[in-house]
Amino acid sequence: MSNFKVGILGATGAVGQKFIRLLQDHPWFTIEALGASERSAGKTYREAANWVEATPMPESVAGLTVRDCKSADFGDVDFVFSGLDSSVATEVEGEFARAGIPVISNAKNYRQDPTVPLLVPEVNPDHITMIESQTFTADKSGWIVTNPNCVVVPLVTTLKPLAEKYGIRSVILTSMQAISGAGYPGVPSLDILGNVIPYIGDEEPKVESEPLKLLGILENGKVTFADFTVHATATRVPVINGHLLSIAVGLDSKPASIEEVAELFRKWKSPVADLGLPTAPAFPMHLYEDQRYPQPRLHADSEGGMQTAVGRLRKAGVLDISYVAMAHNTVRGAAGGAILNAELLVKKGFIQ
Ligand code: NAP
Repeated sequence: MSNFKVGILGATGAVGQKFIRLLQDHPWFTIEALGASERSAGKTYREAANWVEATPMPESVAGLTVRDCKSADFGDVDFVFSGLDSSVATEVEGEFARAGIPVISNAKNYRQDPTVPLLVPEVNPDHITMIESQTFTADKSGWIVTNPNCVVVPLVTTLKPLAEKYGIRSVILTSMQAISGAGYPGVPSLDILGNVIPYIGDEEPKVESEPLKLLGILENGKVTFADFTVHATATRVPVINGHLLSIAVGLDSKPASIEEVAELFRKWKSPVADLGLPTAPAFPMHLYEDQRYPQPRLHADSEGGMQTAVGRLRKAGVLDISYVAMAHNTVRGAAGGAILNAELLVKKGFIQ
């Protein structure tokens, strides 16, 4: 496998730092360039970043000079990962794509663009071909691929097998979201310590709409959205990493028993399991039998932070079944998910 030179836009932020940590020893990708705002550009990464990862800042990036997020400054990379603030992502990511530099983004801005794949390799790997209908450049060298909101990843990972076997009618969920999901410095400590905040601005519309695109059917380059409704309540809790979701699902056809659903979750096999993608977890979903599990502090790092943990599977008096699901928000729900997308793009020949 060739080695690809990558850039990271938004490299100083919480997601940017996670990219750096996860790419440190990546077998296919080498960090060549880092970009951030004009506040950081021109400084070394060591000076610009307030490093919040639990492992030391890699020496290989500490001395790199942070660049402006302009495509002209990134001519030496094969593609960029973006952990940009959404206030600038539309303009900056579009400018890179128009300059022929592929963008693999965490930001929300292009997720609902009808030509942009919203991709989770275990859920909708076929949507990757939507890239072919993008018109950022005449020669198709520039394109954008996105990964979903961090709550949506564990949600759709569990909904996928249910949709295939039973069909989904409706979903109600409450998310208990970690503070790292708000970036750095994020939520003020006086607001969140010993507290729960029952609202996260702009979060619920994404959680309610993105699963419908991810579970939609791609035909002739166009996604027909899945036809069910999602009602979400997003809350912030004093947890560092790992979003926990309490989910109830109404199904089109009824399972014979809750054990049948448990077996479906246990036996579910990812469609990309055999592709040899370095970041792909061996077990993308794990069903815990112990009623006390999953817990963010105990299980967010399972499979390198790439696993969706499921538990408390029950028959529900309201709708049909209920369970909890949890995943690491800055790994599986952000940087790790984007890196896995990049690996699939390499494997499918979109990055050469
Ligand atoms: P963050 O910690 O606030 O970092 C934002 C980054 O954007 C910083 O590197 C910042 O650079 C850069 N930036 C801000 N204004 C800029 C400008 N005008 N030009 C160029 N760069 C600029 O945020 P985050 O939590 O890492 O989130 C990054 C993105 O990922 C957001 O779109 C977020 O919604 C998404 N996301 C986050 C999570 C999560 O769990 N945190 C999960 C999924 C998706 P400076 O340091 O120079 O200001």
